[in-house]
Amino acid sequence: MNPFLELGIRSEIVDAIADLGFEKPSAIQEKAVPVLLTGEDDFVGLAQTGTGKTAAFGLPLLEQIDFSQKHPQALILCPTRELCLQISNDMKHYAKNLDKVHVVAVYGGASISDQLRQIRRGVQIVVATPGRMLDIIRRKAIDFSQIKYVVLDEADEMLNMGFQEDIDQILESTPAEKKTWLFSATMPKEVRKIAKKYMTDPKELTVGVQNTGNENIEHHYYMVTRRNKYAALKRLVDFNPGIFGIVFCRTKIEAQETAEGLIREGYNADSLHGDLSQQQRDKVMKRYRDKNLQLLVATDVAARGIDVNNITHVIHYSLPDEAEYYTHRSGRTARAGKKGISMSLISNRDMGKIRRLEKIVGKKFEKKEIPQGAEVCEKQLYSLFNKVHNVEVNEEQINPYLPTILENLEEYSKEEIIKRITSLEFNRFFEDYQNAPNLNETGDRNSSDRRGKSNYTRLFLNVGRKDDFSPGDLLAFLCDNSKVPGESIGKIDLKDIFTFFEVQNDVVDTIIDTFHGADFEGRELRVEVSSHRSRNKGRNNKRSDRRGNRSHNSGRRKGKRNSAFKDFSGRSF
Ligand code: AMP
Repeated sequence: MNPFLELGIRSEIVDAIADLGFEKPSAIQEKAVPVLLTGEDDFVGLAQTGTGKTAAFGLPLLEQIDFSQKHPQALILCPTRELCLQISNDMKHYAKNLDKVHVVAVYGGASISDQLRQIRRGVQIVVATPGRMLDIIRRKAIDFSQIKYVVLDEADEMLNMGFQEDIDQILESTPAEKKTWLFSATMPKEVRKIAKKYMTDPKELTVGVQNTGNENIEHHYYMVTRRNKYAALKRLVDFNPGIFGIVFCRTKIEAQETAEGLIREGYNADSLHGDLSQQQRDKVMKRYRDKNLQLLVATDVAARGIDVNNITHVIHYSLPDEAEYYTHRSGRTARAGKKGISMSLISNRDMGKIRRLEKIVGKKFEKKEIPQGAEVCEKQLYSLFNKVHNVEVNEEQINPYLPTILENLEEYSKEEIIKRITSLEFNRFFEDYQNAPNLNETGDRNSSDRRGKSNYTRLFLNVGRKDDFSPGDLLAFLCDNSKVPGESIGKIDLKDIFTFFEVQNDVVDTIIDTFHGADFEGRELRVEVSSHRSRNKGRNNKRSDRRGNRSHNSGRRKGKRNSAFKDFSGRSF
């Protein structure tokens, strides 16, 4: 007998979830469904995201709602629009074999009139974010007098986002005798307070140890200096050719600039943060969900509630201030029983944080080295040839050309052909990585990364933000025109009308030769070794001989590197 039937779920629903691939209940479902099916208790479930908690409350709700009636009977509150849509779609999927089920998703950033229309037509289950829900309640556009169940999903996130007051007011509009089911990944005292305030003797259930992260997640950390962080990120991505990941940043600007840098350099990345319009965010999420986007560079708030399966890596470009954010971020990978890796780029100073996180997650974090250039090349190369095994050959399209091609290549052995095709794909990549520096922070005072004895020279350039440059643009502008690899450029300090940036000493001449005196949108570019913390002072004497020997009218060219293995639109992961 199907184990969901044994739990007391009716066959129509069991058939529907079987179509979703649910063969047996997850731990939280197994424990929560029997309790919630009685409909008699308040409930607190401590469970990480990705454990199957939507069905844990969703299935018992469907069992207890009277679908012959068309008034609201259940309200599910959750922190984000993404999660709201996710839950309402899940509920519709679970209920697809039932009649007269009406679920409405109520969230901000979309037309309220559409949502009001759906409510007027009759609805039994309302899935909502607190702000918009309150708006609709204040308009007296919904009647909650017959609500039997309220679910507070990701309660800790809702409180983190400042929804406490909204939740209070919403709950006041529901009958006192309703049952409240609260789900949370963590149980800070604010959530405890809610439980105390609104619940009577709730049944409590914890899946796994409290606050413990998912067992299937490996936690790695990499020691890098701030200056090398962006290069380290790229290297990790290059070292994991099949990566489908989220890069977490601490601020909107950091997310935007990191994404811009990656895009300019030909990575299949985009950003998700609060400064984007709802349409832009939806577009990015659709691309990511459809796996047409390989790297989502996001802030914590924007990425909340993202439920995308098969995310292979979560990269903490900057560690969050709060440990709970770390578990939430990491929980985006290793969903539905899959494995995942959570990588943190940290500096020496963050070691204390790592130790604290180890305690919270209940797992040791592994210290890893940022791979060296040669290792990355090897990995990419083998990955390419693995793809040779799996690629689908379109015989019809290729066959007509084959005789001519074969004749053309007659003089080469198989080995020679492989070498040549590899070179076509990889020369640029090898070039970039040939002299790639070691990006690991050694902690050695004499290390080349240390400011005192730096390998880097700080340069001044007379363009800045007012010229429409972001640090990512500038990086691409420098690298594309000079052919200097991105790794050779250090910190970029973009001001309004000029920029300071650091470059490795061995490329200072190339940069000055390329840019100094060149024309940029009708203006003469000036590149000089900065007098602050300047080294190699003699260098800028040379430049006057070389003025004006190149033109940069084109401004910024797109910085596509070898797109053959940067553009993953082939969706091979
Ligand atoms: P949730 O924690 O509700 O966000 O669920 C995480 C993911 O696991 C979703 O993609 C669900 O579709 C999937 N899932 C939930 N329950 C099961 C189950 N019993 N068997 C297989 N997959 C499940």
